Amino acid sequence: MAKPKVHVRRGDTVMVISGKSIGKKGKVITVEPDKNRVVIEGVNIAKRHTRPTRQMPQGGILEKEAPVHSSNVMLFCTKCNTPTRISKKVLANGEKERVCKKCGETI
Ligand SMILES: [Zn+2]
Repeated sequence: MAKPKVHVRRGDTVMVISGKSIGKKGKVITVEPDKNRVVIEGVNIAKRHTRPTRQMPQGGILEKEAPVHSSNVMLFCTKCNTPTRISKKVLANGEKERVCKKCGETI
């Protein structure tokens, strides 16, 4: 069985195109390929109310990014300032490059 593939990588800038965080953009912190989810910096913040523990004696509310489904995000091109699709380009030396479909910029 083929593994589900996430179209973005860690460090990519993405924009959320669906769900409650729609329109937000940020950097991908974590990719969870087996769940097809990504964690984006500053997006989909979940508040967790925690009891006081030894590490956090005061307890309280912890804010942490929750993962969003990869189909809800699009790669964001910083060159043309829009969410975009990518195309793959194979260079002369055999290396693969991802380029923006709109402006042709390497991502
Ligand atoms: Zn572009």
